[in-house]
Amino acid sequence: MLWAIVNNNKEFAIPKLKGSCPMCEREVFSKCGNIKIWHWAHHKGESCEKWYEPDADWHLHWKTTFGKENSEIVIKNNDEKHLADIYTKTDVIIELQSNSLKHEEIEEKENFFGERMIWLINGADFKDHFTFFDFESYEQYYGWLDIGEQGIQNVSMNKDYSFDWKYFRSSWIGVKRPVFIDFKHHLFWVKKGMGNSNGIGRFISKEKFIKKYQGDYNTYLNFKSDFYKQE
Ligand SMILES: [Zn+2]
Repeated sequence: MLWAIVNNNKEFAIPKLKGSCPMCEREVFSKCGNIKIWHWAHHKGESCEKWYEPDADWHLHWKTTFGKENSEIVIKNNDEKHLADIYTKTDVIIELQSNSLKHEEIEEKENFFGERMIWLINGADFKDHFTFFDFESYEQYYGWLDIGEQGIQNVSMNKDYSFDWKYFRSSWIGVKRPVFIDFKHHLFWVKKGMGNSNGIGRFISKEKFIKKYQGDYNTYLNFKSDFYKQE
């Protein structure tokens, strides 16, 4: 968790601070080391979110883009409670997913959060396994290159591309909510074939995506993760 409740405010973890968990209201303490993002943790054995995924720079980047008022929001549904990663001003839930996920858990989350939910998946780990094809020119593009490179060149945002996915993650087969994969320079909206060896999708600019869901694009551009790790 990036934010806990301290004196009725939602606060970032800073060293030696205690707060309460927005979900279970138990005490949480700040964990502020040099390697992981500064965050809040429950006392041993008290963690209340079974869908918990540790926050890394990538999560922090997206959550701060939408701001603390719209991130880590408690959603209640019957007797169950979960934290939505992002709950936009337009009432859309954006679930951030960096690690691989079992199919059952994908289904559980989709059922819990309902139809106004979309997936935003970190493609960093499998970017090199994607190959994109342009229907019209038959030119072949390869997935995002390393940092410092310009990513996929001359990509059009206005047409579909087919993709091949080596070592595809089949737990995503049958996903019901829209899926956007973060390939660093652009998002890729998977329209067909998520979790399969091939399919069809479209590149979406991050600026357009962030503005559509009323995040702050300048915050996104100016993000520096080190800021959140220093005293
Ligand atoms: Zn809790």
